[in-house]
Amino acid sequence: MENTNNNWQQRGNRVFIGNYARYPVAMEKGEGCKLIDTDGREYLDFLSGIAVCALGHCHPAVTEAICTQASTLVHVSNLYYTKPQTELAEMLVANSFADKVFMANSGAEVNEAAIKLARISSGEGKYGIISLAGSFHGRTLATVAATGQPKFHAGFEPLPAGFSYAPFGDIAALEAMITESTCAIMCEPLQGEGGVRPLEQEYLQGLRGLCDKYGLLLIFDEVQTGMGRTGTLFAYQQLGLVPDIMTVAKALGNGLPIGAMLTTEKIAAALVPGTHASTFGGNPVASAAAVSVMKIMLEDDFLPGVREKGRYFGDKLQGLADKYPSVATGVRGLGLILGLVLTEAGIEHGTGVVNTMFEKGYLMNFAGGTVLRFVPPLVVTELEIDRFVAALDETLAGLPV
Ligand SMILES: *Cc1c(COP(=O)(O)O)cnc(C)c1O
Repeated sequence: MENTNNNWQQRGNRVFIGNYARYPVAMEKGEGCKLIDTDGREYLDFLSGIAVCALGHCHPAVTEAICTQASTLVHVSNLYYTKPQTELAEMLVANSFADKVFMANSGAEVNEAAIKLARISSGEGKYGIISLAGSFHGRTLATVAATGQPKFHAGFEPLPAGFSYAPFGDIAALEAMITESTCAIMCEPLQGEGGVRPLEQEYLQGLRGLCDKYGLLLIFDEVQTGMGRTGTLFAYQQLGLVPDIMTVAKALGNGLPIGAMLTTEKIAAALVPGTHASTFGGNPVASAAAVSVMKIMLEDDFLPGVREKGRYFGDKLQGLADKYPSVATGVRGLGLILGLVLTEAGIEHGTGVVNTMFEKGYLMNFAGGTVLRFVPPLVVTELEIDRFVAALDETLAGLPV
């Protein structure tokens, strides 16, 4: 069989469950912001495996850390300590509000852990979690129940009980939903899947205030916004508040599956031996990758560079919004998670724009049914941003609106 996109697509279609709508390509190689498919076509990747490959594909330092660890120790049970997992936890604690860390393999898993921790640490009868309309917290049953978008619930009911959804950005409405059984408020500081929707700093501080007033835990899902994406290591660091529990995953291992739940010593005390666990969580190879990711992100000019490139890219996108007012109303986001907000007429063409960009060799996606989302690797250059924006300009110019 020939090594072509087409052949891999056909073989895949015969054997995969059809839960993904895939593009007809088999990706073969990645380097920095570039991906190459099996037919040898190149793509400029502004999706990064959905905000995962923050240091670009196959970053040499991460690859070296993976290879070194893979030839030393790949897996042991969490009944034992390992060097990479300990180092990673130390780095997360040293660079956040947290004192304690639990590791798992994905965003959904660390959000599950956060939900379980909120419940067990709040005691009998306190189980209610209020999340926000438009949120996304994962695909397991509890995290899908926490997700405030009915389309993710359909067909999977009954969902675990105890979840309710407050309207986006309305502090009074959320306060009115708090009951005797509420134990936590869970939210993304900026909704990613929901369409790159930042919440006002004032609103988020209001959530902190409500949690303090009613004795609730504030859970920040930073699975997408964490690890440098917004221009600080964690988004909460720009908001003048501190959550009680925070989850990170996506970019933590630059592509190796790892997630972490962070919290304070006091709250963490509820998870005693036997209450929660993960076979693979904090696996030595994934942890070693994450340690190398954090070392790079903590270098002096890395995060300021993200903020600077975010402004540069944001200005260029605003230029497109100004140039095509019938398609786009503006730009929103923070750091290098940016969205071009589409008009009613533009929304009709959202998927079309993504497809045309794909045909031109540029990867991006359409989020929340309203926004063109851009999450390039944080190592993207201004030159790559210019190339991408030029292709997007050409694409928008070709729309019949
Ligand atoms: C992607 C995402 C998740 C789910 O992460 P998985 O690794 O796919 O389980 C949860 N929360 C947010 C905010 C996300 O963006």
